[in-house]
Order: sequence, then C-alpha cells, then structure tokens
Amino acid sequence: MTNLILLGPPGAGKGTQARMLMESKGLIQLSTGDLLREAVAKGTQAGKAAKQVMAAGDLVSDEIVIAIVNDRLDQPDVAAGVIFDGFPRTVIQAEALDDLLKDKEMKLDSVVLLEVPDSAVIERISGRYTCAGCGEGYHDLHKVPAKPGVCDNCGETKFKRRVDDDAATVSERLKTYHAETSPLTVYYSDKGLLKRINAMGDIDIISAQLNEVFDRTSN
Ligand code: AMP
Repeated sequence: MTNLILLGPPGAGKGTQARMLMESKGLIQLSTGDLLREAVAKGTQAGKAAKQVMAAGDLVSDEIVIAIVNDRLDQPDVAAGVIFDGFPRTVIQAEALDDLLKDKEMKLDSVVLLEVPDSAVIERISGRYTCAGCGEGYHDLHKVPAKPGVCDNCGETKFKRRVDDDAATVSERLKTYHAETSPLTVYYSDKGLLKRINAMGDIDIISAQLNEVFDRTSN
C-alpha cells in the first residue's frame, strides 16, 4: 500500500494528476476540496460552516477538515493506498495527518510538489470546468471535448464550473497558499519525503514523472 500527498498551488493540476494516478495505479483520491463541496451541497453542519469560507478563498478550519479526513480514512477502500489532494494545507493539518496515519497503522511514502509559477495560475484556472457526470477536467482554451458539449470520457452533456474559480478569489487562494501551505515543503523535505515536479509541461509527461515517483516509493 502506497500513500502520497500532492502539494502545489491552486491550478497546479493536483486533481487531474490524482485522477490519472488513481486510474493507472488503483489508488483512492482523497480530495478535501471535493469532500467539502459535497458537504456544502448536502447542507451538512460542516458544509454550512465551510460555504462562505470557501467562497472567499480562505481555509476551512483545521478542526473540520481533519474530522472529514479522519472519517474518510476509516472507510475500507483506503487499503488500496491514498492520494491526498489538497490536504494537508497547514502545518497543524500535517501534524494531525502524521497522528491519524499512525493511529490507523498507515504510512506516508512520498510528498510530491507540483510546481507552477503564480503567473500561470490565474490563466490555468479561469476557463477550467469539469464534467458533471464523471468529473473529467476540461479547459476553454487548452482541452475541449472532441465533440462539443459531450464529455469524452462518459458522454455526459452537463458540465460544472467552480464558484471560487473567478480571478479575485483565485488571487486570494494563492495568497492563502503562500502564507499557510508553502511551509509544508520545508516540513516534508526535513522528513526526506519531498519530490518536486515541474508542472508546467505536458499533462502526460507530468503524469509519467509522477508514476515514476510512485514506482520508486511503492512497497
Ligand atoms: P480545492 O478543491 O483543494 O482547491 O479546495 C477548495 C477550497 O476548499 C479551498 O479554497 C478551501 O476553502 C477549502 N479546502 C480544501 N481543502 C482544504 C484544507 N485541507 N484545509 C482547509 N480548507 C480546505
């Protein structure tokens, strides 16, 4: 079982790469952003608390996010290995994850930082959307469905855009990333776990590099 974290700013391609790795290696994608959006849509207590914070591009409280991850890690499918996508985002969350993994007799094998300069983030994020059926990612300029309006992957004709993907909120999310999440690169490089991948290239090349890291660290 191999467990890894994908780190990187918004728009680095964490979700896309997590999905590809999930397909190629059978891992489970644990995206706190997806779980929180689900909680917001369902109107749960956590969702109600998270809604405004997410819309503003700020971080949801460590307490809520750690509880969500704890619950998710109690499901049996995580035995296949987990890709943490968008978690941890603060040093407190990283320390909590260490404790959770220890409790559940799991271990962290690798942390991959997908590096993208700030200047590329806004362009990447504005224009992105996903299939409402299977979650496949698209972009107005860089990746459109082969048949307009129909998902290549599942044939769905409905698509979604995230409410926090507008330019003002993205710039807030970037600030939050630098203030709260970048320190994690030091946290994990001190533990000897950090690998860096230049995430500005072709999606398939980045995916191949990530697969290589996976193969080197898997057990
Ligand atoms: P993402 O889909 O990872 O870009 O996350 C979308 C939004 O959900 C973020 O801007 C935060 O408001 C919230 N969020 C997701 N993951 C976390 C986390 N680990 N800690 C705090 N807030 C989070």
